[in-house]
Amino acid sequence: MSFRTLDDADLAGKRALVRVDLNVPMEDGKITDTTRIDRVLPTIREISGKGGKVVLLAHFGRPKGRDAKDSLRPVAIALAHALGQPVTFVDDCIGEDVAKAVSAAKNGEVLLLENTRFHAGDEKNDPDFVKALAANGDLFVNDAFSAAHRAHASTEGLAHVLPAFAGRSMQAELEALSAGLDNPARPVMAIVGGAKVSTKLDLLGNLVKKVDVLAIGGGMANTFLAARGINVGKSLCEHDLVATAREIEEKAKAAGCEIMLPVDALAAREFKAHPGHRIVPVTGVEADEMILDAGPISVAEVVLKLDHVKTLVWNGPFGAFELPPFDTATVTVAKAAAKRVKAGQLVAVAGGGDTVAAMNHAGVAADLTYVSTAGGAFLEWMEGKALPGVEALRQR
Ligand code: AMP
Repeated sequence: MSFRTLDDADLAGKRALVRVDLNVPMEDGKITDTTRIDRVLPTIREISGKGGKVVLLAHFGRPKGRDAKDSLRPVAIALAHALGQPVTFVDDCIGEDVAKAVSAAKNGEVLLLENTRFHAGDEKNDPDFVKALAANGDLFVNDAFSAAHRAHASTEGLAHVLPAFAGRSMQAELEALSAGLDNPARPVMAIVGGAKVSTKLDLLGNLVKKVDVLAIGGGMANTFLAARGINVGKSLCEHDLVATAREIEEKAKAAGCEIMLPVDALAAREFKAHPGHRIVPVTGVEADEMILDAGPISVAEVVLKLDHVKTLVWNGPFGAFELPPFDTATVTVAKAAAKRVKAGQLVAVAGGGDTVAAMNHAGVAADLTYVSTAGGAFLEWMEGKALPGVEALRQR
């Protein structure tokens, strides 16, 4: 690992500025999901346990300037509850009040500073703002992989002016992603599904160069089928992208990457749960029908292929998984992958927006090697892009 981690940090008596992701979903002032809070607890506990002062930095929402509705104050209360230890909330993230609060804190105590995005300097990565943040820390710990695709003051700038370390959650994410694509056990298979090709062009372009097998599912598979001259009826299909789909297939061929497309499908006439459907070969879809999931033969082919690969990277469902029975392919393949992970035969990393919901729905989120909740950062990593927040942590 080319990153310094908490193992390398001298924490006792030090002021640790710790960038975390506390951008939790909130409705009417109430936090509806605490996953992000839970993920940063190990890092906070470890620094606190080793006698460091934990000074937490985080953003919340997309405020333009100070805005009470985007205050982190309610999150401080939830965090204290989850930690089982008091969390001092400070009304700003730079300035006199912060300096006083940090200096008054005893070693091992935890402070949460107000939303870094209340200052325009955060997203601008303004050097003066970086300096103002750095004034309250002896070292910087980044535990927010999900914000690492942004070069902001609190995610990137600080790593250049203070000794910088990956927190435990960041470390786990980087280790999992490295095992998934950067340095994987081969053969490697990728599954890419979801709605549209247009949102995943870069991702597909990168994957065909890196993986041995690419299984394409979801609405985007329809565009690839159309590119092969198959009539997909009323299915979601980006007809203007068939030439692009052909190019991706050609790139894959040149790189020796096998592309798997569905050979059969669950087709229906209405986009709703249990609409009445039939199993058809992809060549047999009627003009008024939609492909809403991969069919049993396609699923069996993917499951069989899983037996022959050592690594799986997955983004996007095989079908409209929110509407049963069109969750069948996604759930069946997810369970097969989880079984092989449990047996020690597969490393499986999944992530990105809807994929987390799909894996939760399949009940396998805890059984895969790693499920990334990072959304944009996970997708940029799958696209092969360098993430500024990660690059800044690399040892120089
Ligand atoms: P994405 O955010 O690109 O991963 O897309 C996820 C969405 O794609 C989910 O909401 C699925 O319902 C949708 N989806 C997957 N397969 C299909 C399909 N065959 N037709 C329509 N929508 C689909």
